[in-house]
Amino acid sequence: MGDCCLEKAEDSRQEKLPVLECRQCQGLMKPIHRNVLIHQVTSPLNQSIPVETFFFCSEISCPVVYFSPSGFVVETSDMRYAVSEKSACEERTICYCYGITYSQVVNEIAKKGRSASKAFVIEQTQLKNCACDVRNPSGRCCLKEFPK
Ligand SMILES: [Zn+2]
Repeated sequence: MGDCCLEKAEDSRQEKLPVLECRQCQGLMKPIHRNVLIHQVTSPLNQSIPVETFFFCSEISCPVVYFSPSGFVVETSDMRYAVSEKSACEERTICYCYGITYSQVVNEIAKKGRSASKAFVIEQTQLKNCACDVRNPSGRCCLKEFPK
């Protein structure tokens, strides 16, 4: 398997990041830094992550979390923490930087019509205090995971 499997993201005119099909669910997934795997994968598997490009599978029903073009695969059972994108549980963590759960935000909105936790995350994001690139299994900002 080589670069023949890499395809351009069809809807990202600006970024033009390569995407790769997850062999398990056939979804087209975005790349993720290898550094995230070292922080998120259980020991000792995290000590033998090959040096190559990795992709994050965001499909909720797929057991694959990370995969590489050569076929290296990390599944949910290989992860140190539950992956927000892989769960519909109300108690799931959605913000890994500050430990905020989905239900916490839902309750805040129900009681006050707004989420103080979300406002806090937005503020910290603007202050560049977040550590999503190592703390979040997706390697990305968590704000898209917050309930509306
Ligand atoms: Zn998948």
